[in-house]
Amino acid sequence: MCANPLLNPVPTKDGHVVGYVHSLETFGAVDGPGIRFVAFMQGCHMRCKFCHNPDTWKTRVGSQMTTEEVLNKALPYRSFWGDKGGITLSGGEILLQIDFALELFKMCKEEGISTCLDTCGQPFTRREPWFSKFNELMDYTDILLVDIKHINSDEHKRLTGFPNDNILDMCEYLSSIGKPVWIRHVLIPGITDNDEYLKQLGEYVKENLHNVEKFEVLPYHTMGVHKYQEMGIRYRLEGVEPPTPERVKNAEKLLEVDRYQGYKDWYPGINTLDQQPS
Ligand code: SF4
Repeated sequence: MCANPLLNPVPTKDGHVVGYVHSLETFGAVDGPGIRFVAFMQGCHMRCKFCHNPDTWKTRVGSQMTTEEVLNKALPYRSFWGDKGGITLSGGEILLQIDFALELFKMCKEEGISTCLDTCGQPFTRREPWFSKFNELMDYTDILLVDIKHINSDEHKRLTGFPNDNILDMCEYLSSIGKPVWIRHVLIPGITDNDEYLKQLGEYVKENLHNVEKFEVLPYHTMGVHKYQEMGIRYRLEGVEPPTPERVKNAEKLLEVDRYQGYKDWYPGINTLDQQPS
């Protein structure tokens, strides 16, 4: 069962929601369209074996900042954002701090700033009052980056600690409301680098999701392993090497990533369903 963050009191300061921030990145180039200011928020319930940011897992730690403080940190970089860039909220898992995301994105929209949410979807539920809050957040979100960690729910659970049912439900819901997404999939030798699973994921996205602007294969890497050593946590993918360029190409072919080119023409405010023939 998903945790319901609304059951926890929302911390506030000076009339604004307080969030637990892991770190801020002023020039993010891989966290959504264009150049973006990225706030990596603290806290994630998943325990992906390949996670390169185990230092973001703990909830209710990190720098406590209000939405206004984060926005004020971002605004000096506005001239670099151009037509497509803006602010991305990432993690950890940002949906664990949904009230913070909602207030910050509302403020962004008042300022005419493009908003992007980078989520793994684990907290998603259609239970109330969470679902209404999520829907309201979507009113202020231009685009989402959604990781599908594994298409097979049992394998997903082995890889992350959670099944994928509600994550796929979120993907389908976002498709039904025409909310643009980039789908991302980490290619891990021996786990997700499997032709059969890749074909299943490719089919799933093609058949069920009609809002995909971009579909990316992210090759597994080992850059975060030192953090596990520093934190005294056992790294469970010891000995797994990054996939070869050939295997990455193979995955891209099986997932048919070339079908999803909408990102080239995408601008904030575009609704994917509007572009489709009726
Ligand atoms: S969802 Fe993201 S932050 Fe959470 S464990 Fe997985 S990779 Fe790490």
